[in-house]
Amino acid sequence: MYPFSYTKPADTRAAVAAGARGGRYIAGGTTLVDLMRETVERPGTLVDISGLPLADVRATERGGLRIGALARMADVAAHARVRSAYPVISQALELSASAQLRNMATIGGNLLQRTRCPYFRDVSAACNKRQPGSGCSALEGFNRSHAILGTSDACVATHPSDLAVALVALDAVVHLLGPDGERSLALSAFLLRPGDTPDREHDLRPGELITAVEIPPQPRASRSGYLKVRDRQSYEFALTSAAVALTITGGLIREARVAAGGVGTVPWRLTGVERRLTGARPSDELWARAAAAAADGARPLRHNAFKTDLLKRTIERQLRTVGGSR
Ligand code: SF4
Repeated sequence: MYPFSYTKPADTRAAVAAGARGGRYIAGGTTLVDLMRETVERPGTLVDISGLPLADVRATERGGLRIGALARMADVAAHARVRSAYPVISQALELSASAQLRNMATIGGNLLQRTRCPYFRDVSAACNKRQPGSGCSALEGFNRSHAILGTSDACVATHPSDLAVALVALDAVVHLLGPDGERSLALSAFLLRPGDTPDREHDLRPGELITAVEIPPQPRASRSGYLKVRDRQSYEFALTSAAVALTITGGLIREARVAAGGVGTVPWRLTGVERRLTGARPSDELWARAAAAAADGARPLRHNAFKTDLLKRTIERQLRTVGGSR
């Protein structure tokens, strides 16, 4: 470890001021402390925001759900309203990390966690995300776990969050507070594809803080769930995952929301799959036909071509789980 300063502001305004002076926010610390130990991250000042009043989970006036950025993953997963109205969120959280980590890690931190690309975490390897312009060791290296969608010549790392996949499927919005005040934007717009600047992972301005995530009201008849496929059944990141929410009334699919994880540089919304589902009559044949579009546009690397078929099968299986076998 190397020297750094530490401050714990008394209120949100003071925290944002410290962040605007270049401080790095820390709450649960489950990602940042590891990266500091490995010298991947070297913040000069840590701004401890764990004591700020941003941990509430409550219904919104419009009938949606607002989750405070400092709510713990375990608490959100166990929240009665989340479990009943948004099972895809509960399941995504419960399939993440370990019980100990879920007890510490916050919702805001989960969305901002850094990639698990092993070259990013190895300071002796070339990595455009860690050191812009140095190259990408994964392109010609071992890239079995890397992305097949949304990649660029500069970076092919997957986004690591399960929660973000569920939230993107549900059209969640992030609320931000910074030196210039509050603003909100869709999570799908907040998380950035690598392009030529893989070091820029999100649209967070200097000093800005995530204060909450808001999920719009879902149709009363909506049912949802999350499936995660990985090399072992606990404490492992996704090879592929599927967040599915379907609204089925009168024998027809009125609304379909489908997103994939483990395959994209950001949580990947599968609009082609959604189009094939919307207005159709649920059937096993439909699930297979819709899932066939899941990997459209994929660009597999040397070691991860298997993800193309695995993604289609993951989506088909989760469509059947949520929509029923018939
Ligand atoms: Fe770095 Fe991205 Fe390449 Fe991994 S895939 S080595 S994170 S630039």
